[in-house]
Amino acid sequence: MRLVSLALDSVDSLYWGCTTHFSTLLLNMLKDRVELADFPLLVRLNPGVPWKTRGNGAVVLRLLYDGDVKSLLEAVRGYALEYSNKEDFGIAVVEGAPWEVERLRILYSKALTDVVTVDVARKAVEKSGGLWAGGMGVIGASAALAALAPWDDYTFELIAYRKPENWGVERCMNYKLLVEAEARMPPCTFNNIDYHGRTAAAAPGGWDPVLAGFRGDCIAPLAGYAIGLCEEVDLWALFRSNQHTDAHAKPLTGELKPYQTGLVDVTVKNSKVIAGGHVIVRGLALGGDVDIVFYRETGPLNSAARMLSEGDEITVLGTVKPYKPRGVTVIAAEKMRVNKVETKTVKINPRCPKCGTRMESPGRKGGLRCPKCGYKKETTKINVRIERSLTTGEYTPPPGRLKHLTSPKGRKQQPPLKLPLKLKIDQVLSTDPKRIPHTSEAHSSWNP
Ligand SMILES: [Zn+2]
Ligand SMILES: [Zn+2]
Repeated sequence: MRLVSLALDSVDSLYWGCTTHFSTLLLNMLKDRVELADFPLLVRLNPGVPWKTRGNGAVVLRLLYDGDVKSLLEAVRGYALEYSNKEDFGIAVVEGAPWEVERLRILYSKALTDVVTVDVARKAVEKSGGLWAGGMGVIGASAALAALAPWDDYTFELIAYRKPENWGVERCMNYKLLVEAEARMPPCTFNNIDYHGRTAAAAPGGWDPVLAGFRGDCIAPLAGYAIGLCEEVDLWALFRSNQHTDAHAKPLTGELKPYQTGLVDVTVKNSKVIAGGHVIVRGLALGGDVDIVFYRETGPLNSAARMLSEGDEITVLGTVKPYKPRGVTVIAAEKMRVNKVETKTVKINPRCPKCGTRMESPGRKGGLRCPKCGYKKETTKINVRIERSLTTGEYTPPPGRLKHLTSPKGRKQQPPLKLPLKLKIDQVLSTDPKRIPHTSEAHSSWNP
């Protein structure tokens, strides 16, 4: 059988549906005709693009398939139309190993950090011998094809989908049980609980068919969260993802353009708190002034930004905003590394060498005088170092408030993977609410 990658994006309607949900249903339909060469992939792209669909996520199914690729594309296009009732979704299909196609890797890299046009995306697929269908969604679908190469870092997400009759109804999640479940797990899961807001970060809002998506570097422990779901699950699916791997953390160069996301080295000029508790740090980056915004919701990241002062050196991971209210480029920070904390000093009067009393400056004449014993000396003030409470290191938002691509503090990269993997569809998909998919014989690090 041949390796065929089928990528999907924006397969949802205005109010409901979700590309991951559609992909899961599709995989279930195809299960007698295909084998899996990889987990279903959930690929996040540039978080700064404002016209993205919810979360800017695309799905890739890497299939071992013997049939005709063109008729596969047509069949999937038909299903997508039926599911979403609109035509701006995107589908892209390519044969072979897309991660070895340089033009597709470049497209992926660009879609992680910049804005890609639909023309560029379509051409990259065509020139790689692939096919596409649909509208604006072709951007995300095409860009996702070459994601998650064997050497790329990755995480997992176990998604529970809701029964259609529950869509739009408030989700039933037991916060206390989720917290207890997490406390029993090895420390390989992340961003699933917002401890500050006392909510399940794993649960989206509104009409999304997703009940909850649990994230981690491991697979087996994720099933432990199921105890906190107090409504019946319709479907389970297990995805491999570039989420929380910092895949977008590449240095920005040249002139900063709106919606670009990446790393910028900044020398701090000053830091101030504005209305709402957000912090604006003015600094020098790429030869010009920039304002870095640290939103209040980013917790420890915002607190660290308050302590920055002139001369400190930081590297910011963030997105260039399309406005310049103070005349300089604005970057919204999602993460920061403090590289250097500048030494700060103040000038004070020394103590009297005779009696130890703090000396005084009597007037404009210069020199210092002891107020107690009258000792006089032609001397100046001395420099005293001020303790800075800021320390070097990495600062991120709190658990549950990380953006999709942002890696949690201290997370280690996964070892490389051998592709294709041979997986059975029921290892990644379950239509039985009581059976949570898992891969028992796989990688030991996935099942600690
Ligand atoms: Zn979704
Ligand atoms: Zn004295």
